[in-house]
Amino acid sequence: MNATLQTWLAEQIQSLKDQHLYKKPRILDTPASGSVVMDGKNVVNLSSNNYLGLANHPKVRQAAMDALEKWGVGAGAVRWIGGTMRVHEELEERLAKFKHVEAVLVFTSGFTANSGCIPAVMTSDDVIISDELNHASIIDGVRLSAAEYRKSEGWVYAHNDMNQLEEILKRAGKFKKRMIVTDGVFSMDGDIAPLPEIVQLAEKYDALVMVDDAHASGVLGKNGAGTTSHFDLYGRVDIQLGTLSKALGVVGGYIAGSALLKEWLVNRGRPYLFSTALPPVTAAALIAALDIMETDPEPMRKLWENARWWKSELAKLGFDTMGSETPITPVYCGDEEKAVKLEKMLWDEGVYALSICYPTVPKGKARIRTMPSAAHTKEELARALDAFAKCGKTLGIIGEHATA
Ligand SMILES: *Cc1c(COP(=O)(O)O)cnc(C)c1O
Repeated sequence: MNATLQTWLAEQIQSLKDQHLYKKPRILDTPASGSVVMDGKNVVNLSSNNYLGLANHPKVRQAAMDALEKWGVGAGAVRWIGGTMRVHEELEERLAKFKHVEAVLVFTSGFTANSGCIPAVMTSDDVIISDELNHASIIDGVRLSAAEYRKSEGWVYAHNDMNQLEEILKRAGKFKKRMIVTDGVFSMDGDIAPLPEIVQLAEKYDALVMVDDAHASGVLGKNGAGTTSHFDLYGRVDIQLGTLSKALGVVGGYIAGSALLKEWLVNRGRPYLFSTALPPVTAAALIAALDIMETDPEPMRKLWENARWWKSELAKLGFDTMGSETPITPVYCGDEEKAVKLEKMLWDEGVYALSICYPTVPKGKARIRTMPSAAHTKEELARALDAFAKCGKTLGIIGEHATA
């Protein structure tokens, strides 16, 4: 072992611990659900993106088992070299119909869909204009592109600030292509991008729009088709990213758009070109998950019923949920130490919910991020609420002497 490396690693890790940024995953011994056994303890899980409870749905499991018999476990190759099975094609056709677009290209994750698509589409003649709160995978995709994008050069706008976006667009005329890229639902705050305004500005200044609907898929729009559907903007969003890992309950990501866009990404999307295709079992499970989303309104209804109940009960107790409009529910703590303490106390009460601190979110805006879902029973959420009430009072986040 190289001693310089080992010393450097130890120092860096200590620094993460000092900043409350150190991560150590807890281990699940049960499938994804509202209640789980984690590190040997029974807890209500409020940190899962399994919005619709599809991750362990009987019909999705059955489809995966049937596909296992038919296709085996691996695709055997990168898609274009010989790893494209009929089931991959079928998944893409189904997704394209679901999204009301000409074509969909599936990647092995939402992360690689972003990091593959953005640099393939945006080149050194172009500029990328980003919301400051965009997801890490958008940021990485943008950094891999040869386009202009830097915040220091004024190409990043304050969160959802449409006046600033317009100012930036006015300066961007000299580029061949201008792309506005935004989360559809912001993953830390749970608010929704003002897509109608963004699309209007894009049309006015001849820019293209890319929306990352990772947290909107299965949550917003008709049958969970995302923000484009939610705002009735069909045909006006050039590139939609969806994830298959969150509400759809399995894993993978996709780019939805024109047939030409797909054709280009098949030829120039690097994660598509150089990384092995999704296992066929995964593709088949996803088709079954889509079947449920398109035919059974119950999971989405329950998701929203639980989310509304959870938010309104937290508000009644005096918690600040930071203007969230979706199931993603941040519980404001302010101070980093307080958020970390609340996480620990909740765990002791049998509730798993993670604290989110600077620099993932701005300094002094630390919070506990909670994700109610269709997988939760009312009883589980009520138990979690009691724990929040008790711990929130102890820490002075709510109650007479609240300081948060
Ligand atoms: C989770 C997430 C992704 C990544 O999706 P994966 O399928 O988990 O790789 C991309 N964008 C946003 C906004 C996300 O929240």
